[in-house]
Amino acid sequence: MCDGQEQDGLSRRALMGRAAVGAAATAFGMIGSTALAAPTPGTALPAPQSLTPEQVLIQLKRGNAEFLRGQSIAGDVRGRRRLEIARAQYPVAVLVSCSDSRVPPEVLFGKGLGQLFIIRNAGNTIDTTAMGSLEYAVAELNVPLVVVMGHERCGAVAAAVSVVEKGATFPGSIGRMVEPIIPAVLDARRQGAVDLLDASVRANVSRTVGRLREFSEPMVLDRIRTGRLRVVGARYDLDDGRVDFFDEGPVRPRT
Ligand SMILES: [Zn+2]
Repeated sequence: MCDGQEQDGLSRRALMGRAAVGAAATAFGMIGSTALAAPTPGTALPAPQSLTPEQVLIQLKRGNAEFLRGQSIAGDVRGRRRLEIARAQYPVAVLVSCSDSRVPPEVLFGKGLGQLFIIRNAGNTIDTTAMGSLEYAVAELNVPLVVVMGHERCGAVAAAVSVVEKGATFPGSIGRMVEPIIPAVLDARRQGAVDLLDASVRANVSRTVGRLREFSEPMVLDRIRTGRLRVVGARYDLDDGRVDFFDEGPVRPRT
């Protein structure tokens, strides 16, 4: 069995599928139809996503508790699992988290292949690319939970703090990258934070969570209102390994 041949075959099938969908189909529709294509005979598909936001949140908390006890076994990364999800993915949560090498979501929550849909950048902000990725996961993959997770001593947030406090400037694109974090620093400062960096980390998460809950596209908002999607905020502690879900928001009945 040659992977290259198989990939070529997949590409041809994907192209044919796109042609069949027609010119009016949206890019998401095409991606979705490809993602949900029929499995290769003999390759089992995992069950479609049916977990509630609350069930997934419990899973993540349990996974982090195991990580804290040092009992976390890396999620399933075996070949069998890889084959199970080779034709379709059903991640249980979207993680919007920092690129920081000390904050790998799968490890912190004990998840394996195909379980977390991760959007990472320094400072866990949401730009157009991140928002589009999130919307795709929610609308096309039916992911029921979005976790926006900052972390202790985040360098990107520290850079934004230094802009506010000292008028610091940064070379290249770094300055523009931290710009979206500056309002969070100003919020934290207005509230008289003793530890401005840590308060800014939390404020940065809260601002993103609030934006997602209030100002998302209908594809996201409708799911939040009907209890099929929950957006929560969290902070990871580098010292003790704990993920504090400090902004879980309301639980809405599924309708
Ligand atoms: Zn960071």
